[in-house]
Amino acid sequence: MPADGKICTFNCVYCECGFNEEHRTHSKRPSREEVRDALCARLEDMLAHGPKPDVLTFAGNGEPTAHPDFASIIDDTLSLRDKFFPNAKVCVLSNATLIGRDNVFNALLKVDDNILKLDTVDSGYIGKTDRPTGKYDVAKTIARLTEFQGHVMIQTMFMKGNGFDNTADCYVVPWIEALRQIKPACVMIYTIDRETPMKGLEKATKEELDKIARQVTEAGFRCTVSY
Ligand code: SF4
Repeated sequence: MPADGKICTFNCVYCECGFNEEHRTHSKRPSREEVRDALCARLEDMLAHGPKPDVLTFAGNGEPTAHPDFASIIDDTLSLRDKFFPNAKVCVLSNATLIGRDNVFNALLKVDDNILKLDTVDSGYIGKTDRPTGKYDVAKTIARLTEFQGHVMIQTMFMKGNGFDNTADCYVVPWIEALRQIKPACVMIYTIDRETPMKGLEKATKEELDKIARQVTEAGFRCTVSY
């Protein structure tokens, strides 16, 4: 992603990178070659001087799968990982808006940790909270998530305040039904941790997160919680 702003297919009210419209980039995305060369130089340096990476993660400044060469960049990253640090994982954090594209889907199948966002199954709440910048159909997204056949981790933000609250059973129960369909390897639930561009948003409480985690575990899925 460009270093001077953010490009995303969501415009989440809680995004720690800020609202899309306030962080427009003035530079282009780096090319596939630039990413490969920069990563190669960094890994060479880490091999010589440390530290040894546990994981190479695609995240930050927007949606990584929106890069037109995302699939090739993943291929380059996997070969560089194999060359320099074969035990390191490759991880992608994505909002799942572009998993309908076969090249994105197939690239995500190759990474070790394929972490995809599903904040709720309520399309009204998604429209208000995640605020997709293009067409987004949550039923189609869930169907596509199911096609990963378990090679996916679901990440979900729970939060409250300013008219938002997806911690109640009316949101959690249908979301767990979607998890039963998707059968993810793991479910990662978290809450607000940094300043948000929309004011008045609040963290879900520890009790609320623990209750949701119990429901996920009872449904048969491994669950991690970040308070
Ligand atoms: S999907 Fe991630 S990067 Fe994009 S707006 Fe939401 S929180 Fe920010």
